[in-house]
Amino acid sequence: MATADPGLLRCTAADEVHPPPQMVPLLDSAEPGWALCELAEDHDDRHATFICDLKRPGPELTIWWMWGPGGGEFVMRHPCPGTTTGDESGDACTLFHAHPSGHSWQVTDPTMEALRQELATRGPIL
Ligand SMILES: [Zn+2]
Ligand SMILES: [Zn+2]
Repeated sequence: MATADPGLLRCTAADEVHPPPQMVPLLDSAEPGWALCELAEDHDDRHATFICDLKRPGPELTIWWMWGPGGGEFVMRHPCPGTTTGDESGDACTLFHAHPSGHSWQVTDPTMEALRQELATRGPIL
């Protein structure tokens, strides 16, 4: 049984990403878009958003947009090896290796959580 986890709220930072021409071949989409930070609020280091997997042979690498007061950049990182159970039977963390703050399954998106609570006040859905 999983113990009740108080959880972490997701960081609400957002940034606009404009892929530079040299990055476009690596990305799923060359369109500019909004990046929403996927880390827990109060994290240290820069904000980070998963962009896509790096499409090439070799060790698994993921491409992230990381940004802070000084601007942003595309960064390649190995995936976080963490899982909910600590072994391969669990759900994998969707963040990058050595990320700050909690693993992805510990982070609650406040927008989704607010929606869930709003629905809960309307009585059972079933
Ligand atoms: Zn953030
Ligand atoms: Zn993790």
